[in-house]
Order: sequence, then structure tokens, then C-alpha cells
Amino acid sequence: MSGASSGRVYLVGAGPGDPGLLTARALALIAAADVVLYDRLIGEGALGGARPDAELVFVGKQGGGEAVPQEHTQELMIARAREGKSVVRLKGGDPFVFGRGGEEALALRGAGIEFEVVPGVTAGVGALAYAGIPVTHRGLSSAVAFVTAQAGREDARDWPDWPALAAFPGTLVFYMGAARLSEIATSLIAHGRPPGEPAAVVEAGTLPAQRTVTATLGSISAEAERSRIGAPLLLVAGAVASLARELSWLPARPLAGRTVAVTRARAQASGLASRLELLGARVVQAPTIVTRVLDVDVPDLSAYDLVCLTSANAVGALFERLLVSRRDARALAGTRVAVIGPGTATALAERGVLADIEPEHPIAESLVEALASVPVSRALVARASRARELLPDALRARGAQVDVLALYETLPEPVGERALAQALAADYITFTSSSTVANFFAAAGAQTLSERTRVVSIGPATSATLAERGLHADVEAARHDVDGVVDALLADAAAADGGGER
Ligand code: SAH
Repeated sequence: MSGASSGRVYLVGAGPGDPGLLTARALALIAAADVVLYDRLIGEGALGGARPDAELVFVGKQGGGEAVPQEHTQELMIARAREGKSVVRLKGGDPFVFGRGGEEALALRGAGIEFEVVPGVTAGVGALAYAGIPVTHRGLSSAVAFVTAQAGREDARDWPDWPALAAFPGTLVFYMGAARLSEIATSLIAHGRPPGEPAAVVEAGTLPAQRTVTATLGSISAEAERSRIGAPLLLVAGAVASLARELSWLPARPLAGRTVAVTRARAQASGLASRLELLGARVVQAPTIVTRVLDVDVPDLSAYDLVCLTSANAVGALFERLLVSRRDARALAGTRVAVIGPGTATALAERGVLADIEPEHPIAESLVEALASVPVSRALVARASRARELLPDALRARGAQVDVLALYETLPEPVGERALAQALAADYITFTSSSTVANFFAAAGAQTLSERTRVVSIGPATSATLAERGLHADVEAARHDVDGVVDALLADAAAADGGGER
């Protein structure tokens, strides 16, 4: 098959870990990809934007285990492209900096497959910037060398060339050196680098778990060991390393070092996940449900004096279905619109409609109360196929004529083994509806949550579903929305920190 009829491969850099450092081009390609082949150091955040039906293939090395052989990765990439698919080969940092991106590009060229390269922020620049270390600095360093600490990897010559490296007139940044910090420092000193030269080690740069240790070249390995610093890390030798203390700028993050599992549908999860990540948490995405818009006709909305929207999903589905019959926000022009809570109100506002009625608490009971003083003769309740009857029943009890429009259904989504294992071992696991509880534990089967995992529930209904499974919600949100979940989790983490549990 020739290149013309086959798909394309994109060799994409994902940056050093913080999803905010993905390029706009990377995000667009991930969102459109049929297949994503990804490495170990790719954050979950980067894959969150992939299509739910995209094929995601892990081709990296699993925690010290065997790597997927490079030939296998290349064969898979080529095979998928020949099937006409759009393939994103996602690599940590920059694909052409110690990423074997060049080798893969050569293999693609050899196979006649078209490719594109999307540069990324390499760890040697990005992770150091997050630690407050500029790789060059006027008066301190006019050159920077990116160095692999691995022997004989990147070229055939004897490597590392210690005399040349020691003589390099600028900053040295070592990649892949976690296992040989002491050897690197000793060899540089043995070949003339001053033992008093500033040095730093940056672990998991830009990621929630980021840590920095600064010392001198002579003492850095011992200091790193004392702090139990581990991979992924970079070693920096050079005067610029001394700036870390002065320029460190990352705000203290209250959830740093904690893992939080998010079980809600992928499409809904991003808001919660990104808020948690900003607070320093490592987020494990284990979506357990997927929503599917139903093939229904939206009736003439002007026939109702009240339209109730009971979730952000219902808003999205309503507008999607309106569009099918070439209608838009104006279909709601003549009627009062009630929403269940702030998330629904925001989804509606994004489509140009401000809600007339929003209850104090985002639950059906509260909406019924808020509607008590509103005259209603004919109402439409737009919602999921399976939902509580409380709202329609309450309106009918008042003598209103009520139609229920089931706009979407939620289906269980299979949870991948890796995500499941990580979620079961997380510090916190969040449940934002009863169906996330049911589906998550259906996926877990006989496996149970780790002892230290704290269970977070969005509200009483979800907590009750947990209790049916013999599980106690350690944390229950006072406000039953995403903000409420985040607040409750923060308070719990702060109490644990204060109480000296960590
Ligand atoms: N292509 C990547 C490098 C791949 S080699 C890039 O351009 O960044 C893998 C090495 O990169 C790791 O051994 C470590 O030295 C470094 N590395 C990658 N991500 C890192 C991070 N977030 N913090 C510190 N070092 C990192």
C-alpha cells in the first residue's frame, strides 16, 4: 500500500508532565486520533482528551519491568497507519530529545508512511523551569548541554565522555541518571569539575509530586539519597542550580503527593480532574460511565410554561437534539427554565440561556421547593432515561400536566486494568453519582479498595448507595456538586495533615 492511501503518524511531544504544557497542536491531534501509542511518563491528563472510541496503547516500560520492544512499537504504528488510521505517537517531553523519535521517523520514512513531528517542552528545560532553574543565565552560564547518563545509547562512541563533559563551559543537564547520580558527580569531579559547583536534582518536575534538592556537585548524590529522591529525575550541574532557592515559585499545593481517583464519565470528569490537579493531586481517571444521547424528538417547547433541566448532560443533549430539527436556544424563548444546580446553569449559560430558577441545593427536593411559588400548568422535565420521579410527581401533585423527556442514557464503561488498580490504591476515590458506585464496584469484582483509601461522596444519595455495599463514605460533600466535592476533599486532607496522620 502506498503512503497516499494510508493514514498519518504524528510524533508528538507531551511535555514533562503538567497537562497545561501540552501544545495546542498536541491537544488537537490527540482529540482527533484513531490510535494513541503512549509512553510511561505521559500523564493521564494528556490522554483525557482522546476520543472515547480511540484505541489507546501503552508501549512504554512498566515500572522497572520489560519495555515493549521498539520494533514492536514501530510495527504497530506502521500497521495502524496502513489501515488508514490517524496515529498519535505520544512521547514525554520532546520527541527528538532522547525520545527515539528520530528512529521512529526513519522507520516511517522507510515504510513510506507520512508523518509530522510536534515538538514538546523537554524536561531539561520545563522541569527545571518549574524548579526555578533557568538553564542559561547572563553572567552565570552561556551554554547548556543535554546529556544522557546512559552508556552507549545515543551514539556508538564510548559514552559518557567524562573529560569532554567536565570541560563543557556551561550548564550540564543529565537525563536518565537516577541510578547513577554518585557515579556522574564523582566522574565529573575526577575530570576537573569543581566539587563546590552548585548542583540540583529535580524529581517529577511539573508533576504534582515535584521535589527539588539543591547542594554542591560533591554532596548532591548523598543529599538526594537522604531525601529518597527517585526517578524520573534530572541532575543539573552548574552555577544556575544555585538560583533554585531564590527563584522557586511553585505555590504550595494542598493536595501535593496525594492520588485521587475520579470515576465519573470522561466527558464530565475534566472539570473535577483539572481542579484537583491544580491543587497538586495526582489524578487517576477511571471513568465508569459513558453517556449516550438518545434518538428522541424534542417537542415544541413553546407549549410548556416550564422546562426543567436536571443535569449538565441534559442541557448538552437537549441542544444536540434541537439542532437535529434545525432549532437552537430560541426554542426556549417563551418559557421559564429551571435548572437543578450551578453545573447545569453554567452549561445552559454557555449556550446563551440564563436559568430563571435555580434551587439553593442542587437536588430534586430543593428544586421542588424553589418551584413552589412559580405558577405551572404544563411542564417538561428533560433528563436521563433512568432518574428519580420526585420532581415530575411533585409537579403533578400540584395539578400540573407533566411530560418527561428522556434525552440520554448512562451506560457502564469498562474500566481498564491499569486504571482500576491505580484507583483501588488511591489516597482518595471520588463518587459523584450512584451509578459511578455501582459500575466501579462491578468492574472491581472481587478486588477491594486499599485500607488507606478514603471514600468521597458527592451527597446523601451516593453515600446511601455506598452503604448498600457495606462502604462508609469517609467524606461527604456539603454542597452536592464538583466544587463541594473539592472543598470536602481539601478539608479532609488538611485535617489529616494537621492531625499528623501523614
Ligand atoms: N523526550 C523526553 C526525555 C525522555 S528520556 C524529554 O524531552 O523530556 C527520560 C528521562 O527524562 C528521565 O529519565 C528523566 O531524566 C527525564 N524526565 C522526563 N520527565 C521528567 C520529569 N517530569 N521530571 C524530571 N525528569 C524527567
